[in-house]
Amino acid sequence: ASLERLCLHESVGTKIPQAAFVDAFDGLDVRVELVGDEESYDPTDAVASFEPRPEFLEAGWVHCIRAGYDAFDTDAYEAAGVALTNSSGIHGETVGELAVGYMLSLARLLHVYRDRQREREWHDPAYERPFTLSGERLCVVGLGTIGTAIAERADALGMEVVGVRRSEESVPSVSRIYDPSALEDAVADARFVALAAPHTPETEGMVDAEMLDAMRTDAYLINVARGPLVDEESLIEALEEGTIAGAALDVFETEPLPPSSPLWDLENVIVTPHRGSATNRYHLDIAELVRENVRRYQVGESLLNRVA
Ligand code: NAD
Repeated sequence: ASLERLCLHESVGTKIPQAAFVDAFDGLDVRVELVGDEESYDPTDAVASFEPRPEFLEAGWVHCIRAGYDAFDTDAYEAAGVALTNSSGIHGETVGELAVGYMLSLARLLHVYRDRQREREWHDPAYERPFTLSGERLCVVGLGTIGTAIAERADALGMEVVGVRRSEESVPSVSRIYDPSALEDAVADARFVALAAPHTPETEGMVDAEMLDAMRTDAYLINVARGPLVDEESLIEALEEGTIAGAALDVFETEPLPPSSPLWDLENVIVTPHRGSATNRYHLDIAELVRENVRRYQVGESLLNRVA
């Protein structure tokens, strides 16, 4: 059946302004409606949502407005024969820039100076502490849209970039590719390790005490992927004991990060509130992707970013 309606579930409001998102579908040749939890669906409906709902399985096609669709039960979608798509492919610039911002700050202490600024303190760090990114090695784990964007930007800053991916196929800007089974070798010589892989059974807890031990003591961990990739307790221990030098984290095991987390208080840690893709044009990027998939759906072409 072809689509008659595109339902924008109110949970999109978690990430983007609802009204602007509706407007971004101006001129689409199906009806566009903002819907809440009392809605019912049939196969002529498409749904775009931030959160999953069981009733979405009655629709014809469901789009997760996030790249990480781990909250959606892909098996249930397969079983119901309902297409599920995600929003990967659009976060390269936004999350790539955030990762570069983290690295620049960690290297040049912007976060430390800002902390001291609050105290009106003219801070003088140890001579050895600040460094340039140029010439430092970055290991990017997961070379999809975000990982590749981080690699390109780091390369442009003169960094040496290596990466971890499941296929050996080369990636521009990445001088050496390691297999996921060689993760500890891949990170051993890196000054920065950036996580950009999805949360899957395979990646869950991939950064554990052994991996942190394998990292240099002057290395920094960057997580712009998903919290569960990191065993947070081991990370906190490594940060407190100086096994690694610091971290910049956009994602956490529990979000929002609980006020009791020691991560808030560590000077060598930058905490950001899972806003890696948050910019003033995020709704437009998602809408463009969804519009293209509406077009494809109507003419029977395969959908972009189909994950179930
Ligand atoms: P993507 O699908 O383009 O890239 C993910 C890459 O990881 C793929 O190339 C995949 O092959 C690879 N991969 C999977 N398992 C791996 C493993 N075990 N080892 C190494 N590589 C592995 O997705 P993307 O748009 O680059 O996003 C990546 C992840 O980042 C998302 O799944 C999401 O969880 C997260 N994300 C976070 C934010 C944020 O706001 N911080 C925003 C968007 C996405």
